[in-house]
Amino acid sequence: MLKQPIRTCAGCRAEFPQKQLLRIAVSAAGESAVDVAQTMQGRGAYICFRNECVEIAKKRHSLQRALKHSLPADIWIDINRAIADCPTENKNFTCELIKEARAADGLPEGELSADKRE
Ligand SMILES: [Zn+2]
Repeated sequence: MLKQPIRTCAGCRAEFPQKQLLRIAVSAAGESAVDVAQTMQGRGAYICFRNECVEIAKKRHSLQRALKHSLPADIWIDINRAIADCPTENKNFTCELIKEARAADGLPEGELSADKRE
């Protein structure tokens, strides 16, 4: 079975297949962007397509911590916009539903994670 990459939401801290999450990336040059296509080079952090998770991440600065980089205030506008017009089926997912599915699979919840692409 092909194992798909698992990432942790910076809001609810539950783990999900990478493609179900919204990626926020910081390039080597220090430019941050909402990376809906998940193709941007650089460090990435992930968040559910849920306003609740965005609010938590905003409050706890957990995206910044995962990225080890500060984010401009208007990144939140882009994040909210990406969630509002989510081009994928991800919008139908909720953290609870996926959490339940994962619990059924006996998969453990993990620590906040980030990835690096170069
Ligand atoms: Zn979440």
